[in-house]
Amino acid sequence: MGGLSRRSGTLRIRNSASFVVVLVVVLIKADLAGPMRERKGSNMNAQETHHSINPVRPVSTAPESREPASLAFLSPTTHWTARPIFGQSRPVKQSIVTLDMEGVLTPEIWIAVAEKTKIPELRRTTRDEPDYDKLMRGRLKILDAHGLKLSDIQQVIGSLRPLEGALGFLRELRATVQVVILSDTFEQFAQPLLRQLEWPTLLCHRLEVMNDRIVDYKIRIPEQKKQTVAAFKRMNYRVIAAGDSYNDTAMLLEADLGFLFHAPENVRKEFPQFKAVEAYADLLSLIQEAL
Ligand SMILES: [Mg+2]
Repeated sequence: MGGLSRRSGTLRIRNSASFVVVLVVVLIKADLAGPMRERKGSNMNAQETHHSINPVRPVSTAPESREPASLAFLSPTTHWTARPIFGQSRPVKQSIVTLDMEGVLTPEIWIAVAEKTKIPELRRTTRDEPDYDKLMRGRLKILDAHGLKLSDIQQVIGSLRPLEGALGFLRELRATVQVVILSDTFEQFAQPLLRQLEWPTLLCHRLEVMNDRIVDYKIRIPEQKKQTVAAFKRMNYRVIAAGDSYNDTAMLLEADLGFLFHAPENVRKEFPQFKAVEAYADLLSLIQEAL
């Protein structure tokens, strides 16, 4: 009897141990199954796709994001951590250069149009008027008053050449670092100038045109120069920027390092914190020293 009792006790202990093991396995499976079901149930959005090909993943510290999923990775509340699969590797900060176009690489389009059409009011640019919307509304009214169409302006732009030395500067710079042109010009204006600059990447706006008449303009995003620099910074880029006008100063302030190039005296005086240079060789040296 005693032996049987001991055997029964041993069996109970073995059964209890087996039960604990089975319970642990069930709990682990249940823990894993939940997230897997959630993943399968939801369509892979852009962010998830990004995770699958990128060695880093964003971790949002925001309680609830209202941004579209496609832009969520740009959220200021997002920071980046290395994926465990890559062990001790950490994101590497890289540099990128953002440049204004008109006044830095090409002539001012509207000044050329003013000269060609002999309409002096069109000479006003972002160098004179800090309020871009006010400037553009004024330009569209003047075009309408004189019956000037998109094709008239495109004809003028077609005759423009990049500023002397601009192409050599851009070639040299692009051989060293990635460069993006941030301009408040429009897609319909930019193409002839981009061709001559060997097609650098340009981010700009778009005109609304009906029967060759420019009826309105559409900006892609408010403060696009500043927002683009901020987005590059959130993607772990160190941003070096250069521009010449009021519409560049927010970009220069947002950048890690900003330079004024070919800037008029009023802009240089109002923003003495930015080193101002006049020659491409000087700007190239400043940027290369900063890389
Ligand atoms: Mg400019």
